Amino acid sequence: MYDLFFTEEHEDVRALAKEFAEKTLAPIAAEIDKNEKFPMDVVKQMGELGFFGIKIPEEYGGIGLDARSYVAVMEEIAKKCATATLFISSANSLSTAPIVLNGTEEQKQKYLPDVAAGDSFIAFALTEPDAGSDAASIKTKAVKDGDSYILNGVKCFITMAPISDYAIVYAKTSPEKGVKGITCFIVDMKLPGVSCGAPEDKMGQRGVPVSNIFLDDVRVPADCVIGEVDMGFINAMKTLSVGRIGVSSMCLGIAQEAMDLAVEYTKTREQFGRPLKDFQALRFMMADMETRLNAARLLTYNAAYLLDTKQPADKAASMAKYFAAENAIDIVNKSLQLHGGYGYSKEYEIERLYRDVRVCSIYEGSSQVQQIVIAGQLFR
Ligand SMILES: Cc1cc2nc3c(=O)[nH]c(=O)nc-3n(C[C@H](O)[C@H](O)[C@H](O)COP(=O)(O)OP(=O)(O)OC[C@H]3O[C@@H](n4cnc5c(N)ncnc54)[C@H](O)[C@@H]3O)c2cc1C
Repeated sequence: MYDLFFTEEHEDVRALAKEFAEKTLAPIAAEIDKNEKFPMDVVKQMGELGFFGIKIPEEYGGIGLDARSYVAVMEEIAKKCATATLFISSANSLSTAPIVLNGTEEQKQKYLPDVAAGDSFIAFALTEPDAGSDAASIKTKAVKDGDSYILNGVKCFITMAPISDYAIVYAKTSPEKGVKGITCFIVDMKLPGVSCGAPEDKMGQRGVPVSNIFLDDVRVPADCVIGEVDMGFINAMKTLSVGRIGVSSMCLGIAQEAMDLAVEYTKTREQFGRPLKDFQALRFMMADMETRLNAARLLTYNAAYLLDTKQPADKAASMAKYFAAENAIDIVNKSLQLHGGYGYSKEYEIERLYRDVRVCSIYEGSSQVQQIVIAGQLFR
């Protein structure tokens, strides 16, 4: 059905991810959620399978595949364990895109191979307590001092911060220049003055810790600037724009799993002497869910195809993220409804999916931020 977008090579990559998700992740996903701990040996296996280097160029230890390969892997992994996709999206998108896009040769050689192998994690630290959707209003400052910069500020909701070796940190170097005064730094998390807050007690995707990062007079060498001084905001926006298809594909996987669960459950559960699937009201509800899931899929695959063919993809990626997130949340919600009271029990997988999917319309640009981007393109 999606031959238009995918070649046999893409399908081989998808098959590898599907097999790993079903054999390795499905049996442990509930436990990961319950214990809020992701087994590091499984992270290692994902690294060995190449999932962290899908989009990292071969010369830097990756396998240099395209956006559609990334989407296919993210979708298959998300079906069985949304938390696992965070390791994949971090490695292929948020943590490495700033370096791939603007890093020096030396920076690429230094940081990318370890991330591709799963031996190093890099957090992406943009959000602050008073700067979320309005990311340009960050207050973290970086002041030049000889051959270094001194960083001060607080970043919040930073995925993987407590387990990361480095963080990509956006800070104001020329506060008077607003959006044109932000610089991107790579900060070693072991430097004096760097600390993390307690992990957030999150609703879903609980296997990966999210916390504050405190920067207290942190001296960062000037060679840790990524790209040009004062030009970091463009780097952040480009990274997030590409990153959006990662969240979209995560939504596809979670929503597909919810759909499959709904089909199975309504085939076997009987009320009024008939299986639920025989009630037309429920059949129509599921027809609607299936249609919207496939529309989200087309938007996401199309955005990935545009990226792969070097065509403008910002609007397409925002439409995909907006539509996929809103509809995945609704599809999972309806699947839970179809499970009745059992869907509300932690014994059923749909309960976890309901919590895991909710953040998708919030992070990497909320649905409203996507609407701002889409409308902005209409009125350019
Ligand atoms: C689990 C999790 C992980 C995260 N990981 C990271 C990470 O790794 N790195 C990172 O930098 N950040 C991360 N974030 C932060 C995330 O990107 C922000 O939460 C998000 O950008 C929204 O910012 P906010 O929470 O401050 O909400 P606000 O910006 O305060 O928004 C509140 C509400 O108002 C809406 N809104 C805001 N402005 C407008 C407007 N102009 N028009 C219409 N509606 C508007 C928003 O859509 C939202 O619904 C993470 C967040 C979560 C929950």
